[in-house]
Amino acid sequence: LIHITGLCKSYGAIQVLHGIDLSVKAGEVVVVIGPSGSGKSTLIRCINLLEEYQGGVVLVDGIAVQRGAGLAQVRAEVGMVFQSFNLFPHLTVQDNVALGPLRVKHLSKEVSHRTAQELLARVGMADHAHKFPAQLSGGQQQRVAIARALAMEPKVILFDEPTSALDPEMVGEVLDVMQALAKSGVTMVVVTHEMGFARRVADRVIFMDAGRIVEQASPEPFFNAPQEPRTQAFLKAIL
Ligand code: ATP
Ligand code: MG
Repeated sequence: LIHITGLCKSYGAIQVLHGIDLSVKAGEVVVVIGPSGSGKSTLIRCINLLEEYQGGVVLVDGIAVQRGAGLAQVRAEVGMVFQSFNLFPHLTVQDNVALGPLRVKHLSKEVSHRTAQELLARVGMADHAHKFPAQLSGGQQQRVAIARALAMEPKVILFDEPTSALDPEMVGEVLDVMQALAKSGVTMVVVTHEMGFARRVADRVIFMDAGRIVEQASPEPFFNAPQEPRTQAFLKAIL
């Protein structure tokens, strides 16, 4: 579903991605870990062109992710959930979730609101549909943000540290929703520091350092028998 080859990205003179090769199959859950500044956010932001890149090829569902004709289609197929929930503060929960289908997919008000209600139920937020984001906890806002991403029926959802801004007692409710999505077959690329989630939910764990993929494996071998010294040192420091 996602095919990345030779991806290179610089900010000015500083190169931050050095030839990334990565493919993600439909239904796969890939967790990306690595030290601060290793390029995790930059990598996933290149998948929907929130960042421009200078070298390599990024394909989503066979369409090149680059400026021009296919970009709107790629953006519609790639959902994104950020660390800072980014809900529209002046819209209710239900309107936040219904907005994309209304505006981008041109669905009727009735259909988009019915879908929004179903999705809010799926993330355990059905009872809060008429509140505004400021009236919700961080964990609740993030669950709404996940429902909003789902509303566009994306082929893949990218998560950039979705629980890092949350108080500890709210991390679990968001990870539970993400785990349920993974079980239901949603393709996901997740940047996170939650190693328990990586172990439980990932099909594959990718370790990045200094703009390169250093090691990747399924969780069991990755956590129990990492091969590369840099992976071993990172895991030792955080586990
Ligand atoms: P973290 O775990 O702290 O979120 P990360 O792995 O997501 O880190 P990136 O945010 O992708 O890392 O950053 C990779 C490198 O690119 C870092 O050296 C960072 O300083 C640099 N960088 C990121 N965004 C910009 C920007 N807008 N302008 C210049 N340099 C940037
Ligand atoms: Mg980051």
